[in-house]
Amino acid sequence: MKKRTKILATVGPASDSLEMLVALIKTGVNVFRLNFSHGTHSQHLVVLKRIREAMKITGLVVGVLQDISGPKIRIGELKEDFFLEEEDTLIFTTQEVVGEQLSSSSYQVSINYPQILKQLHVGDYIYLYDGIIRTKVIQVDETHVKVQVENRGILSSKKGVNFPNTRLGVDVLTSKDKKDIEWGVKNGVDFMAISFVQTAQDMINARAIVKSHGGEQNLIAKIEKFDAIENIDRIIQESDGLMVARGDLGIEVPYYEVPNLQKMLINKANAASIPVITATQMLLSMTKNERATRAEISDIANAVMDGTDAVMLSEESAIGEHPILAVETMSNTICETEKLYKYYRYEGYTNKDMGDTISESAVRLASDLDAKGIFAITSSGSSVRKLIRYKPKKSIYAITHNEQVRGQMSLIWGVIPLMSVEEVSLEKIVNSFMKRGLKEGSIKKEHSYILTAGDPIGKAGSTNMIRVISSADMQHFS
Ligand code: PGA
Ligand code: MN
Repeated sequence: MKKRTKILATVGPASDSLEMLVALIKTGVNVFRLNFSHGTHSQHLVVLKRIREAMKITGLVVGVLQDISGPKIRIGELKEDFFLEEEDTLIFTTQEVVGEQLSSSSYQVSINYPQILKQLHVGDYIYLYDGIIRTKVIQVDETHVKVQVENRGILSSKKGVNFPNTRLGVDVLTSKDKKDIEWGVKNGVDFMAISFVQTAQDMINARAIVKSHGGEQNLIAKIEKFDAIENIDRIIQESDGLMVARGDLGIEVPYYEVPNLQKMLINKANAASIPVITATQMLLSMTKNERATRAEISDIANAVMDGTDAVMLSEESAIGEHPILAVETMSNTICETEKLYKYYRYEGYTNKDMGDTISESAVRLASDLDAKGIFAITSSGSSVRKLIRYKPKKSIYAITHNEQVRGQMSLIWGVIPLMSVEEVSLEKIVNSFMKRGLKEGSIKKEHSYILTAGDPIGKAGSTNMIRVISSADMQHFS
């Protein structure tokens, strides 16, 4: 059986040639991530076209996720590196200055979002350089925030800053992000990931921008801030998916909380029938090495068992030396782990609408009748997402006439996306894909299948029927 958990790979200089994209798809990539923290629109467009070309060459479907970079908060330029010692003081100033050493034990820096300094209080923490340098606020006035360094470290220009106790109150969509979103709509990406989400309002704002350009992209909330955790239930209501962005999250919250938060986020996303991606450092050592560490393999296996829809590669596939080996390692680990997978998860879910109840029944029916697979005819993908939260052991085929929805289905656990002809009647759609499947050999006439659909077809969220296609009925199609 094919792997059910999906693989998302970030494209970068190590993987953006047509040959590499083809090889990566063949090795098991389901979705490519274009990271808009780097690169120009014209560079990304070249890659996007190559991805589409690679789909044609392989005959396989992949989705495209545009990662919107958001407000990465950084210090300004420094005259020279700071060799910070415990108890040194560092002043963040609202003025735009080149950072410099002021005396033997004091330093001054500027910051690219100076308005944040007004939100700080004595006793708050400020982390520098991916959390490596920890500082505590000891004095606040109109134009300065003074902190005391708690551990030694070397600070260089433009390093990132995190505020693990402070609500930033900044708009997470920068003017660059807004232009990038417009690009994504125009070029028809399937997903956009919104970075540093703090509240549900951030997702509502992103959706409004997408809609204003006429887009229908699925919006993924990257959970990487402490306040996103506090606001998670409302954020989920406004999101089409989550990313457990463990890199920044592990700085914003104590590192030892990340595994439990990963499980919590996966459980909540599963219950809400939205896909969830587990991201960052999954195979980091493979950026250089040909073999992963045992701990990395276990990390992938555990994310799979937790119920993640997808696992993600960042620098491993973007700038690493072994992108294909990294995907192969993920794929092998997923396949082996899924031998002991806990399929059929019914506990902890509530059925909020008719679609939920129909989906649960369809999954139980497929299992009780030992059907070979479930066909879901879908125009928005929502009925397929609802089926998947039960993690059925049976193959799930999503049949849609919308190319973007087909791309979106590639992120969802266990789903095989298929294209249907746009037909006026359900019967015609069923007839055409059954005939095609029988001819291609993906459907067998000795097997039985379950079909879910909305009749009349074409309306999102209108699933109202379950049909059993028994092996006797199969004669009708062959
Ligand atoms: P990034 O997000 O790679 O865009 O920083 C993922 C993370 O923070 O883990
Ligand atoms: Mn991040």
